Amino acid sequence: MKKSIKILIVFTILAGFIFSLSSFKSNKEVGKIVTKEKVLMLTFDDGPSATEDWEIMNILDQYNVKATFFMTGVNLEKYDSDPGIKKVVDRMIKDGHSLGNHSYYHNKYTNNQTQLVKELNDVNNLIKGIYEQNGISIETKDIPIRMPYLQYYRGLGYVQKKVGNPYWVRGYLGTDYLGEETGKDKILKQYYSHLSNGKILVAHTREYAKVWLPEFLETLQSEGYKFANFTQNTNHYYQNYGKLGS
Ligand SMILES: [Zn+2]
Repeated sequence: MKKSIKILIVFTILAGFIFSLSSFKSNKEVGKIVTKEKVLMLTFDDGPSATEDWEIMNILDQYNVKATFFMTGVNLEKYDSDPGIKKVVDRMIKDGHSLGNHSYYHNKYTNNQTQLVKELNDVNNLIKGIYEQNGISIETKDIPIRMPYLQYYRGLGYVQKKVGNPYWVRGYLGTDYLGEETGKDKILKQYYSHLSNGKILVAHTREYAKVWLPEFLETLQSEGYKFANFTQNTNHYYQNYGKLGS
């Protein structure tokens, strides 16, 4: 093979590699607070649920822990028609928990960027409207996003440019969502073996949380861990500990 052709091939591969890397990787994706302090972020996906989130908040209350709830549009839109949903979401705000965007329909969005942009914007508007009804004005830049199934793929960079949310929140995901099938001991073990300063932990709005969550919080607090979230102007706001990073 001629040397010039070889160089061309190498260059093409390299350029393709750099392109795919740059379009895949986004500095918006975060999985922790960059900090030396013993702090964690506890997050619950898939709500709101009038019963399950209410129970979860009762437990969080016992330990004075503030969390973040990443919720879907299909569930959040019931805020205006279902008094139970209104009550549970209003309590999240009143108690100092944070509301996050978990898409509208909780689908897989590969190659469906236009739909994803629309859904994320719709849920941003729902969340802003709910805060507004609670007398709080919040901007899109202060609403965290978590992708359903923690999906990240090439082309997501386009979506991230189109919506105004700076933080797309990943974190450690075990199998708490399988509840009994995973069991308390294994759920706790999964989280305990993935702890590090600033780590964001993914959990779910499930009835089974009441089985593992109290012991989890009890243990972590006895080890000196604190908990942060996205609620500004509070002593549990993550910025009191550091910036978000991957
Ligand atoms: Zn989810």
